[in-house]
Formats: sequence, structure tokens, C-alpha cells
Amino acid sequence: MLMVFGIAVEWAWNRPSSLRDCLAGFLFYFGAELVGAICVLTWWYTTGIPEGAWPRSLFLVECLSLLVLSEVSWYWLHRWGHTRQGWPWHRWHHVPDRYGVWLTPIGHPVFVVMAVVSRVIPGLALGASPEAYAVVGIFQMGISTVGHYNVDAGRWLSRIVVTPALHRWHHAPGARVNYGLSLTLWDQVFRTYYLPRREAARLGVKDQGPGEYEISDQLLDPFRRGVG
Ligand SMILES: [Zn+2]
Ligand SMILES: [Zn+2]
Repeated sequence: MLMVFGIAVEWAWNRPSSLRDCLAGFLFYFGAELVGAICVLTWWYTTGIPEGAWPRSLFLVECLSLLVLSEVSWYWLHRWGHTRQGWPWHRWHHVPDRYGVWLTPIGHPVFVVMAVVSRVIPGLALGASPEAYAVVGIFQMGISTVGHYNVDAGRWLSRIVVTPALHRWHHAPGARVNYGLSLTLWDQVFRTYYLPRREAARLGVKDQGPGEYEISDQLLDPFRRGVG
């Protein structure tokens, strides 16, 4: 829904994504959803939902706790994705030199699995309820999707949530800032929050190669480059 809305918003801003980009986005979106669902369901099926020490009576507190923990876990995975070891797995999300809502789900399936695992581990360890997962997951994916809109709106919200202007700077070549998925809390705590007044002009990776958009190349890229 938010992807379709995003495509419309980008048209309104006169910054439309190409048809090919949109199709790629949708394809990856459903792929990532499938991977996420399989991971979570497999975990629950094999281990059961643990009874934890969460304050179930206060659903809002449970959701907020899960969100904050899930964000810090994602934050450090994402920072690892920008190290020499992690970059081959995360690089794909940064290859496109064009911004747009279609970019949201683009990435190597191995890193998508790591991302899902990183976000659910804190809750699984502490026994969060499936309802809390649903609420937090929808919030995180919603904000992350809007954060990839190719518009420059909502900057004033950047101290709280990830906005298009903020996440766009994460896509500047060689950037080591703004790792948050939906909250900017941990970027501010760990001093990686960066939002100048101007918009990031150049996007993509420093070591851009020819034919970077071929899916088969991107899938095999981490194995060819070697990890570490
Ligand atoms: Zn990144
Ligand atoms: Zn991104």
C-alpha cells in the first residue's frame, strides 16, 4: 500500500521512479516478506512462543520496548553491513544511484534474512507476543518505506523517525551515517546522526562497476568478492 502511495507521491513531486525500478521493488518486496514470514514461523514452530517477562498488561509498553530493542539490534547489524566483512552482503541496497520507494526492499537475500533475525531476536529472547511483533513490524516497514520516498518532506520529524532527507544521506557514496530503520534514537546515541540543510546530491557506491543491475551478478557478488 505504502509503496503504491509512494509511487503516486513521487509522481506528484515530479520525481517518478522508472517502471523497471518499480517492478524490481515489488518483486523484492514480496520476496523479502516471504523470507521474513518463513524465518519467524520456523522459529515459532520449532521453539514455541516463550513466556517472557514482558508487561503484557501494558501493550503499548511492550510494543515500545520491543521497538527500541529491535532498532538497536538492527542498528548494529546495519553498521556491520558497512564494515569490510559485512559490506559484500549489504552493498546491493546501495548500488542504485537513483532514489525512490522501490529501493526499500532491494538487497541480498542473505542480508534480508540477517535483518529479519536481528529484528526478532530481542523479542524472542524476552518472549514478546506475536501481536507486538505485528504492530512493531508494520511500524518499522511503514516508516522505512516512507523514508525511501524520493521527496524532501517531513524533515522536522527527523529527530524521532527516519525521513526521506535523512535516509537519503545514508545512500550517499561512502556514507557512514543514519543507520536507523524507523527510529533515529540510536543514531543520536551513537553519534551517527547526520542531516545537513541541503539534500544529498550523489547516491550509490564508490566502487560502482558496469552492469550493476543484473540480478544474477548481485546475487553472486558476495561470493566472488570474498568475505573479510
Ligand atoms: Zn546501509
Ligand atoms: Zn535505504
